[in-house]
Amino acid sequence: MARPPQWLVTTESQGFGSGWLSGTIAAVLGIAAMAFAFSMAVPHWLSLPELRQLLRSDIAVHSMQAATVIACVLGVLSLALRRTKTLGVVALATSAVAVLCMHFVDRSSTRDSEHVLGVDVFALTLLIYTAVFVPLERLWPRHRDQPTFRHEWWTDLAWFLSSALLVQLTTYLVLKPAETMDFAVSPWLQRHVHDWPLVVQFVAAVFIADFVQYWVHYACHRVPLLWRFHEIHHSAQTMDWLAGSRLHLIDAVLTRALIYAPLFLLGFDPAAIGAYLVFVVIQATFVHANVGFVPRWLEPWLATPRFHHWHHATAPADKNFAVHLPIYDRLFGTHYMPGDEWPAGYGLLGGRIGPQGFWRQLVHPFFRRST
Ligand SMILES: [Zn+2]
Ligand SMILES: [Zn+2]
Repeated sequence: MARPPQWLVTTESQGFGSGWLSGTIAAVLGIAAMAFAFSMAVPHWLSLPELRQLLRSDIAVHSMQAATVIACVLGVLSLALRRTKTLGVVALATSAVAVLCMHFVDRSSTRDSEHVLGVDVFALTLLIYTAVFVPLERLWPRHRDQPTFRHEWWTDLAWFLSSALLVQLTTYLVLKPAETMDFAVSPWLQRHVHDWPLVVQFVAAVFIADFVQYWVHYACHRVPLLWRFHEIHHSAQTMDWLAGSRLHLIDAVLTRALIYAPLFLLGFDPAAIGAYLVFVVIQATFVHANVGFVPRWLEPWLATPRFHHWHHATAPADKNFAVHLPIYDRLFGTHYMPGDEWPAGYGLLGGRIGPQGFWRQLVHPFFRRST
């Protein structure tokens, strides 16, 4: 495999005083500010209707101004301290584009449209995820020498971006099949489930969703046509919070639609389904993270990074299919958690290298027969 260029992946220190921390905060703030500025300049195309009013508020404009100033100051600091200039340059360039875009913002505009790209969703989730997961990975890393901006980080960021941009379309595709099958379930059963306390509904939703997820996931590993799409997720050779974003859109829609259908059809309260969605988003990201501090007593009950990292191991194959509850893997004979060990390597079986880069990975399942 060709070595990634030095500006992309560097072995330069990430310690305090190296300009890494200031550069990382500056680059993330700059990228998010640029994305928010695009959304604010063209909200009828690049902002979800639910977030549009917020982006037209005073607080959004003042936050943007503060973010660009902080990104510029920290970006300059990083440039001064660091030999590799990538973070500082990204911070200053994206901040400059954000400031430029803000000149085109017309807050009195009433132009509206139903169909949009979720650029604001990208900015918001990037800020939240990096604020939560990067500190965890820096404080309690499993693989200490793995840089935050590792090889393929930009590829996985492109997957993260694509899923945010298409969030409206994928949400529609996930919800629609269940809604068209509403006639298939007894209204009595739906009312009964809907009347359960919300906590009970949430716990039941986790058990039902993970049972369905286990078998859909198992099928993705066993059915060659489904594996073509799912192997993209397994082609990641490094595990961190962002690696979980590498999920082909067909794989994501199919799995989520099949998980959502029983929850909707059984009559779960939208609040319970919403709580489950927040839970699954957090946990599905966490289990990929480069975090090694999770206590052993939790491992039999809840999927942890070590549990899911074994699912991504180059060997053995086809273990640990659950996303939440390892009990399903115990029940169905696919559980694998040897002692305190972690996998020696991640990726496709036997270390095979999959397609490289976002666009190749996107089209690969349609044109190549997987091996
Ligand atoms: Zn898998
Ligand atoms: Zn995974």
